[in-house]
Amino acid sequence: MYICINCGSECKELFRRYCPSVLKILKCEKCGLLADKYIEYDPVIVFVDLILIEKPAYRHLLYNSNFKSYWKIGVILWLTESFRAWFFCDINETELTESEINLIPNDALQDYCNFYNLLVHTALAFAVFICAVILVTELKWFIIGKKPYKYSIKDLSNALIVGSCGKLLGFLGIVWRHIALGPYYFLVQGYTVLCLLTAYSVVCKSGRGGSLIGLIAGFLLYGYICTSISRLHLNIFNITLT
Ligand SMILES: [Zn+2]
Repeated sequence: MYICINCGSECKELFRRYCPSVLKILKCEKCGLLADKYIEYDPVIVFVDLILIEKPAYRHLLYNSNFKSYWKIGVILWLTESFRAWFFCDINETELTESEINLIPNDALQDYCNFYNLLVHTALAFAVFICAVILVTELKWFIIGKKPYKYSIKDLSNALIVGSCGKLLGFLGIVWRHIALGPYYFLVQGYTVLCLLTAYSVVCKSGRGGSLIGLIAGFLLYGYICTSISRLHLNIFNITLT
């Protein structure tokens, strides 16, 4: 079963093929618009609309397309986020003076920017984010009800992976040697939140407010895990200096 990219209602079929070269896109019975105009479009246009955070493009990708490689996007996100964390960690380490470095035990300094530790850490943060959002959403359906007929945990996980792709822009900032990485990454985080809100609202058929409630626990836990290790290293550093 497909869905209309304009209103989200279900459609039995999106197009009818009369002969190999003639294809007619069907209209949605509910809203009367073309059920999925992206069938005729080039994938690049779909990609551009995804960047522009267009809800119909998200609906097309998640429900009407044959795209199945969400796990590949997940791996790319995992590696790029780990690299970004390692890059920032490396910058902070180089900012320490030689006398400060001498005061830190060798083990703590080695762990401070260990890429393999950061890989485990980033994977944990992503897993906790997705699990937290799923749990809060299930809890929401349990309390409020009104669970969409087409909702599934798999679709929600896929939507969260697609929505998190905005984080890839953070990697571009490193490659292009952006002069203000901190503020730039803050903007990237804001854009990613908007993408996640749109992806979540497509799967759960909720407004921006309802989507924010569903995602807030995931954001808080993700932020907590991401800052916990740096705080741990900071504590080690402070204890060593005192
Ligand atoms: Zn429709």
